[in-house]
Amino acid sequence: MTDPAPDLLELRGVSKHFGSFRAVDEVGFTVRAGARHAVIGPNGAGKSTLFGLVSGTLAATAGSLLLDGRDVTRLPVHRRVGLGIAATFQHSSLFLPETVLENVLLAALRRAGAGAGAGVEAAAGAGLGGRRKAGARAAATARARTLLERVGLPTRHDVPAAELSHGERRQLEVAVALATEPRLLLLDEPAAGMSPAETERLTRLIAALPDDVTVLLIEHDLDMVFELADTVTVMHLGHHLTTGPPDEVRASAEVQSAYLGTTEVSS
Ligand code: ADP
Ligand code: MG
Repeated sequence: MTDPAPDLLELRGVSKHFGSFRAVDEVGFTVRAGARHAVIGPNGAGKSTLFGLVSGTLAATAGSLLLDGRDVTRLPVHRRVGLGIAATFQHSSLFLPETVLENVLLAALRRAGAGAGAGVEAAAGAGLGGRRKAGARAAATARARTLLERVGLPTRHDVPAAELSHGERRQLEVAVALATEPRLLLLDEPAAGMSPAETERLTRLIAALPDDVTVLLIEHDLDMVFELADTVTVMHLGHHLTTGPPDEVRASAEVQSAYLGTTEVSS
């Protein structure tokens, strides 16, 4: 028997309070390296807040977050990106006037800059020669093209992001997140508002991601969850209800009454 995969992410008693309201209340679970881990729960369960705590857009009120055993609880977003945490922040991560290719390219170049310990501009200012810069850009462009093909946007390179359909924007967001070469990819309801065909394509894309990309996914589409996920966490009213294999979670009476039994499963 092989050893189980190590934990990539560990949440220890993580809380987020807004005033006296506990949006996330002492949540603890682990995400194995290579997992396809879904977080489900009714609206208001605290899922997006939890993602904010992991990506760093929100500061935890209490508890700690460990990436590979390293405490990242107090690190700002860009440091977490540098450590390999990437999130699709719904539409806010796209530069709408820029082309599709440029959006992915900027993320790839930012990542290359972050790898050198600074932003692209700083790297350039620090004396990266013109030729080396051009070389970095050519490599990033090739990578961006590959990513756009992978997410299903191979013919949309030169279109401004603003002209994409809703589903295409979601695909572009995934490409932008992948361009940062994440070890942990956070997807908050990526299929929201997508057509069935787009959802199907996105599901295939996520399923086909390499194992060295660990996926933590919030999703309302339970078909997608049970097709993709090898582990499911259920949240309810800010609390962690359970984490386990999809079949166990589906069969749990507690989960049934908190979530799966309700009819309100759309966002
Ligand atoms: P989910 O993603 O599971 O639907 P959220 O994490 O978005 O849930 O929200 C959890 C709860 O926290 C909701 O009741 C929401 O109204 C509340 N909440 C989220 N963000 C804030 C905020 N900035 N200030 C106050 N309350 C918030
Ligand atoms: Mg949400």
